[in-house]
Amino acid sequence: MTTFTVGWLYPDLMNIYGDRGNILTLVERARWRGFSANVMELGKGVHHGLEDVDVFFFGGGQDREQALVYDDLLELKAEPLTRALAGGAALLAVCGGYQLLGHYYQTAQGERFPGLGLLDLHTEAGARRCIGNVVVDVSGLGLEPSTLIGFENHSGRTFLGPQLTPLGRVMAGSGNNGEDGTEGVAAGNIFGTYLHGSLLPKNPHLADHITTAALQRRGVRSLPVLDDALELEAHRRVRDRELAGRR
Ligand code: GLN
Repeated sequence: MTTFTVGWLYPDLMNIYGDRGNILTLVERARWRGFSANVMELGKGVHHGLEDVDVFFFGGGQDREQALVYDDLLELKAEPLTRALAGGAALLAVCGGYQLLGHYYQTAQGERFPGLGLLDLHTEAGARRCIGNVVVDVSGLGLEPSTLIGFENHSGRTFLGPQLTPLGRVMAGSGNNGEDGTEGVAAGNIFGTYLHGSLLPKNPHLADHITTAALQRRGVRSLPVLDDALELEAHRRVRDRELAGRR
C-alpha cells in the first residue's frame, strides 16, 4: 500500500480560521483512495523525518505566532524543508505561513522578519485588514472548476517577483495585496494563498492537484476519481452567490 504523509508545520501555533480542515482533507482523500495516509506534526524543535513528507502544510497565524515560530523555521526547518521540496514534495502555505516563504514579512509596527527565501516575494502589513469572502480564477492551473473560494483575514500585502506566477486572479475579495489583482502563488510544487475557510474542503480539485504533484516522485501519475458532487455543488453555490453580489 502506498504511503502518503502530510507534514503539518507548527500545528499548535500556525493554525487559525479552520486551517486544520486542510489536513483532514488531504489525509481523508488519500485514505479514500486506498493510501496509507498519516500526519507528521512538525512543531518547534522537530527537524527529523521531513524527507518522508509528501505534502507540507503551513497554516495561518497572527503576527505574534509568526514571531514565535520564526527562529525555529529558519534555524531548524529551512534546510530539511528546502531539501524535501527539491526532492519533489509539495507545500501548501496559507496566509501567515505563505508570508514567511519569501524574502521578508514586515508587521504594521515595522518589525521585519526575514523569510525562508524560497520564493521571490515580500510582504508588508497595510493599514487596513483585508477581510471577507474571496473568489479566485485559477484557469491558469487547468483545474475544473476553474475557481477557488475561501475567506481572507490579513493585514499583510504580498507582492510577487516578476518571474512568479500567481495562484490565480481575484474575482472577488483582495487577494495578495488588493492592488494588482493577483491571489497567492503557484511555483512548481509550492502553493501559497490567503484563502482560509478552510481552503481544501471547499476546493477538492486543488487538494487533488497538490496531492498529484507530490506523488509524481512515487510514480503515481493520477489519482482515482472521487465523487465530489456535494463538495462541488457547495463550491458553485458559494461562488455564484459571491459573484452575483458583486455585479
Ligand atoms: N499576521 C498576518 C497578517 O495579518 C497573517 C494573518 C493570517 O494568517 N490570517 O497579514
